[in-house]
Amino acid sequence: MGDRLAGKIALITGGGSGIGEATAQRFSAEGARVLIVDINGTNAERVATALREQGGEAGHLAADVTDPEAVQGMIQHAVKTFGRLDILHNNATAAEMGSVADLSLEGWNRTLAVNVTAPFLATKYAIPIMLDQGGGAIVNTASISGTRGDYGMAAYNAGKAAVINFTRSAAIEYASRNIRMNCVCPGAIDTPAIRALTGSGAETPHMAVAGGSVDLPKLPEEAQAKVRERMGTAHPVGRLGTPQEIANLVLFLASDEASFITGAAYIIDGGLTAHTGLPAMR
Ligand code: NAP
Repeated sequence: MGDRLAGKIALITGGGSGIGEATAQRFSAEGARVLIVDINGTNAERVATALREQGGEAGHLAADVTDPEAVQGMIQHAVKTFGRLDILHNNATAAEMGSVADLSLEGWNRTLAVNVTAPFLATKYAIPIMLDQGGGAIVNTASISGTRGDYGMAAYNAGKAAVINFTRSAAIEYASRNIRMNCVCPGAIDTPAIRALTGSGAETPHMAVAGGSVDLPKLPEEAQAKVRERMGTAHPVGRLGTPQEIANLVLFLASDEASFITGAAYIIDGGLTAHTGLPAMR
């Protein structure tokens, strides 16, 4: 156990899985008390229970961050439970995928609601609390998909680009009042979300659509292995990232060690976006 976040209260959305879960582990190991928020209440509870079993202090809350009242409620819940809110990690995601002509308006709106409007609302409700306390740190999980395009992911690409620039604007507005806001922009990370997309998860893969999700067909095992290999080798380091590698950066940005960093979008992608895309010539 370390003390890089000793005495801090943190709220993590999408904290029941993947990067959010790894961040919860990292925050708790560094002394933060953590509220895990997830639409999947069972997973949120599982993560909070694990943190408590490891000696940490953690609460959990089932909430859909596309519901404005739920977002306001989760911020209030953190303050009611722990007395303050020092760190907000907007990390939950869902996306409707498909070519632009096939995307539904509902799916587009829901994708933007979870990836952009939810971080906006959570930030809006957290700011007055952080101002009263004298400061705070907000870390949004964006993506390299917010810096360029992906096939079949226009809604997600638009949402992640928007959250990067929202972060910059909000950061400069509150920089002089000791609230820092930054983004992390991961490449492909080995989480349940990416395993579902590549058809290699333990559970039936599902994709968010308006008002819920649909089951996706599972790829045959050989095809799963090929997709995963292609995804990994697209990164110059030759593999997918791990949730823990992203959590390490989120921890740094959330901690006082990053006191001169605000309005930044950190690429963390094993070199993927450093590459022009051209193949090696020898
Ligand atoms: P993940 O394993 O699917 O975790 C995301 C969590 O958010 C899930 O528990 C999900 O629940 C929950 N969630 C979905 N919609 C929600 C809502 N409306 N309200 C509250 N919670 C909701 O995903 P991840 O891969 O860790 O992704 C975490 C973040 O990293 C996301 O912002 C994602 O865009 C970003 N990111 C991921 C990658 C990657 O390759 N994995 C790359 C770049 C950026 P359900 O499972 O029930 O939907």
